[in-house]
Amino acid sequence: MKSIESIRLTSAQERGVALSAAGYNVGMLPADLVYIDLYTDSGTSAMSDRQWAAMMLGDESYAGSRSFYRFEAAVRDYYGYEHVIPAHQGRAAENMLSRCLIRPGHHVPGNMYFTTTRQHQELNGGIFHDIIIDEAHDPDADLPFKGNVDLAKLERLIGKVGAEQIPYVSLAATVNMAGGQPISMANLAEVRELTRRRGIPVMLDAARAVENAWFIKQREPGWNGRSVADILQAMCALTDGATMSAKKDSFANIGGWLAVRDPALAEQARNLVVVYEGLHTYGGMAGRDLEATAQGIEESVQEDSIRTRVQQVAYLAGRIAAAGVPIVRPVGGHAVFLNATAFLPGIPHEQFPAQTLTCALYLDAGIRSTERGAVSAGRDPVTGENRYPPLELVRLTIPRRTYTQSHMDVVAESIIRLYGQREKLRSGVAFAYEPETLRFFQSRFRPLSGEPLFG
Ligand SMILES: *Cc1c(COP(=O)(O)O)cnc(C)c1O
Repeated sequence: MKSIESIRLTSAQERGVALSAAGYNVGMLPADLVYIDLYTDSGTSAMSDRQWAAMMLGDESYAGSRSFYRFEAAVRDYYGYEHVIPAHQGRAAENMLSRCLIRPGHHVPGNMYFTTTRQHQELNGGIFHDIIIDEAHDPDADLPFKGNVDLAKLERLIGKVGAEQIPYVSLAATVNMAGGQPISMANLAEVRELTRRRGIPVMLDAARAVENAWFIKQREPGWNGRSVADILQAMCALTDGATMSAKKDSFANIGGWLAVRDPALAEQARNLVVVYEGLHTYGGMAGRDLEATAQGIEESVQEDSIRTRVQQVAYLAGRIAAAGVPIVRPVGGHAVFLNATAFLPGIPHEQFPAQTLTCALYLDAGIRSTERGAVSAGRDPVTGENRYPPLELVRLTIPRRTYTQSHMDVVAESIIRLYGQREKLRSGVAFAYEPETLRFFQSRFRPLSGEPLFG
C-alpha cells in the first residue's frame, strides 16, 4: 500500500444519535460516522499507482480528447464492441439504451432485476419479466451458475407476447440481486441461439462481467485453460451490446459506457448522449476519468488481482458461515449476502427485516451494509403494492483493494455477536418517508418498538 486513509471508530451513543438522525437508513449517514463501509463496491475501490498516474495525462479537450480514444480502444479491445459511448455512470448508459429501444407496452425479460436497470425500463413504459432459474430465488440452493436464464421461461414469454414486443433481453453478469451469482457460457450461448432465431437482441449488464468470467474459468468445464480476458471476450461475443458501470470491475471512482455493434443504434444513442451527458467523446466524464477507466479496464482482467478479491469475499463468508449465520450460497464475487429472513425470523416481511438488520449492524460496530430486499424492490408500477421478493437480504459489499483481512475480522465478529443476540430484535421498521423512485436511497423509517432499536 502506498497511501492510507483514516477511519474513525465512533461510540455506541454517537451511532444511536446518528442513525436516528438518518431516519434509520444507513444510506443517509455521513460517511465520517461509518467505521467500515460495505455499502457498495461502486466507485469505492482503491485506484492503482498507474491509474493515478494516468489521471495526470487526462486530456480535457471538449471535443475529440486523446483520453477518449484511449478509453474507446480499451473498451473495444477487452469487451469487443465496435461503438463506444461514454456515460457518467452505469445508469446513464441504461437511460440511453432504454430510451432508444423501449416503447410503452414492450416486454423486457431479464435474469432477475437490478434496481436502476429496471427503473429505466419501467420509466420508458417497459414491463419487466424475471426469467432467471427458480433456484436463484432460493438462498440455500448451492449451484455453480445461479445467474442462468430459464430458457423455458423466455420461450413462454416470446410465445405469449410475440418477439416484436421484446426490444431486447437484459442479461446481467454477475447477478447482483441474486447474491453476485454468475451465468455460464453454455447458458449465454443458448440464450443467444434462441434470440437469434427470434430476432431479439441481447444486452449485457457488464458491471461485474470480469468476475463472471473468473467464475466461468473456475467452475465451467472446458474453460479452465483460458485466460479471464479471453473468457470476457467470448461472453461479450454472444451479445449485441452492453451497459457498463466502470465504478465496479474497472476500479474507477466514476464513469461508465454504453457499447453496441449496430451502427444505427449507436447513432441514436449519440444523439441522446449530447442531451443528457455531454459530447459523445466525453459523455459526462472528465478526461482524467476516461484515462483512469482505460487503465482500470486493463488491470481488471489481471488474474492475481481477481483471485485476491474473490478470496477476500470468501474469507468473510467462511468466518460467519462457520458460526451458523445464514448467508446466500454459493458466495458471490463482490459481496456476502446475509439472509435476513432466516437471521430475524420473528420479524415479518412487512416490517422489513433486512432494513432492520442494516440498522442493527451499524449500531453494533459502525459497519454500513445495504438492504437488498423489499425496500429495494419498491412498488409494482401498476398496482402500487409493495413487492416482496423471496430474497430478503443484507449485502456486505467489499470494495476492491481497500480493506485488509483485519477489517474483515471486525465485520465477522460483529455479525457473529449480533447473531448471538438476535432474540433481542423482535420488531422491525416502518416507512416514515418514501420517495417515488429508487426509494431505498433516500427513504426514512421509524422503529416499531420505539427507540432505541436494539439493545
Ligand atoms: C452499479 C450497477 C449498475 C448501475 O451503475 P451506476 O454506475 O451505479 O449507475 C447497473 N447494474 C449493476 C449490476 C450494478 O451493480
